Amino acid sequence: MKRFTDSDLSPEILKAIAELGFEKPTPIQAKTIPHLLSSNQDIIATAQTGTGKTAAFGLPSIHLTEIKNKYPQTLVLCPTRELCVQISKDIASYAKFIDGLNVVPIYGGAGVDQQLRALRKGAHIVVGTPGRTKDMVRRKKLTLANIERVILDEADEMLTMGFKEDMEDILAQTPKDKQTLLFSATMSKKIIAITQQYMNNPIEMSVAKVNMGADNLKHLLYMVQAKDRYEVLKRIADMNPNIYGITFCRTRRETKDIANKLMHDGYNADAIHGDLSQAQRDEVMGRFRKRQLQMLVATDVAARGLDVNDLTHVINYNLPDESEIYVHRSGRTGRAGKSGISIAITHTREMYKIKDIEKKARIKFSRELVPSGKDICQKQLLSLIDKIKKVEVDNYQIEQFLPEIYEKLESLDRENLIKHFVSAEFNRFLAYYKNARDINVKSNMPKERGSKNKRERQSRGERRRTPFSSFYINVGSKNNLNPNRLMGLINEGLRSGDAVIGKIEIMKKFSFFELEESKKSLLIKNLNGMDFEGVPLSVELASEKPITSRTNSNDDDSSRKRGRGNRGRDRKRGQKNPSGNWRGKKSGSKKRKKPE
Ligand code: AMP
Repeated sequence: MKRFTDSDLSPEILKAIAELGFEKPTPIQAKTIPHLLSSNQDIIATAQTGTGKTAAFGLPSIHLTEIKNKYPQTLVLCPTRELCVQISKDIASYAKFIDGLNVVPIYGGAGVDQQLRALRKGAHIVVGTPGRTKDMVRRKKLTLANIERVILDEADEMLTMGFKEDMEDILAQTPKDKQTLLFSATMSKKIIAITQQYMNNPIEMSVAKVNMGADNLKHLLYMVQAKDRYEVLKRIADMNPNIYGITFCRTRRETKDIANKLMHDGYNADAIHGDLSQAQRDEVMGRFRKRQLQMLVATDVAARGLDVNDLTHVINYNLPDESEIYVHRSGRTGRAGKSGISIAITHTREMYKIKDIEKKARIKFSRELVPSGKDICQKQLLSLIDKIKKVEVDNYQIEQFLPEIYEKLESLDRENLIKHFVSAEFNRFLAYYKNARDINVKSNMPKERGSKNKRERQSRGERRRTPFSSFYINVGSKNNLNPNRLMGLINEGLRSGDAVIGKIEIMKKFSFFELEESKKSLLIKNLNGMDFEGVPLSVELASEKPITSRTNSNDDDSSRKRGRGNRGRDRKRGQKNPSGNWRGKKSGSKKRKKPE
């Protein structure tokens, strides 16, 4: 199907999508629309937000609806309230010219009365979150006996969010001969299990990642130590005074933590995550949509269904485990031909993830240097100058004050006058970045900066200052352990990404490693008993001696590697960001915090 008019979609639907500016079907639409209009076979589709999947199932569902039958014929299940509302709105807009077609969203976290009234009026297409849908079925307010097709949208997220049972209970209420469509960004084992249990000989459809590889979307990568991630985030923000983006974190706790730090440092940011009430989420999202917030810090799940266009940046504060999630995240920028930047903040032991994403998503990351203090100051200064140039001057209003102002500034010539104005706005910023260090990790750098030897001497000194404990662990190269995987294990055990790891020795059946002393109890508590490649882990303190003096360096099975976790810090803690341009209207210059 090359054009929508090649399909059997009704003239009313074609008119509505033409009005919406849909010129030709997206790849997923080209596959699903003819199939749904002609066959009852189930579909499994790997497709992310932004691929046009709502219309892919929505248009045929509308076309196949019998308006005169005032009962639900299509049920769409999706993970979040936002997505539920979005899908309903989209379907309603595609059905704009079809008299009497009712699309009803039902979702939790909102009163039931209005939803009940809408259902009573006769819903043809019901779009629901699993919990509320099950509730409505249980209360006999929604009958699924005549459902002809069920769409499981973002099925992977529904499973992640713990809706498996609700989904199963709902599916059990639907007719056996219905058609089932499953859309998922990823095809995990759990998803495959669902498809095997609930789908009948499904046809698989996977679409090329739209946005990916598009000239308008750039994938950048900054390589730093884990402890410097936050500093990178701030520098990205300072380097891009007009940034409008989402920073993705892996956990709720990290999301809250980063958003709090940004707000505390005077940035115009907030968070959305699963711990917020619906009203709080709506409030944050509302501000973000209206651009009162420039940076939203979010978990993947919470950001689903957030349909915001024109994002300038997507920032991966931590890379996701699955390449599809990266694709999903980055697909939120660079939409509709606009340019977008997706940034991965990584450290060296995550290179395998970068390679995996590059291979699976067929994209290429460009490794960039984290902007230096000088780069940022220059950018901010020029942005300030641009703003001054563009500012609207109300001649009439300021006329009356000018004579006095001229008199006061009489002693300054043009050059000095400029310096004074710029400094008044900018001194704090300059002070903050005056001694900003180079935080790039140096392996395979595109170019070098600063004195390498001095830096190395410094970091050796820092290493010496960090007190380490030595550990024994009962897995080694025979268990497919390597230094990177061991570091991953340690960080997993500590539930953090910034452990200070010292030397690592991988032997055949066991290994040794050093870790900052302060974390020893936590590590032993959390790692013991954990499973690694089918082996229950046993971790214990080895000795207080440094590893080099204990292990046999001639053991050719051993691989020695320095941990690339964090060493000491060479920057004072608690420095505040002095950026003025990046602040919200409310937190104007008066609220700026002085750098310490
Ligand atoms: P979705 O993946 O369903 O969230 O859709 C992403 C965006 O693409 C939405 O804003 C749709 O309105 C838009 N869209 C869907 N199909 C098309 C199409 N064939 N042509 C242009 N835009 C589309």
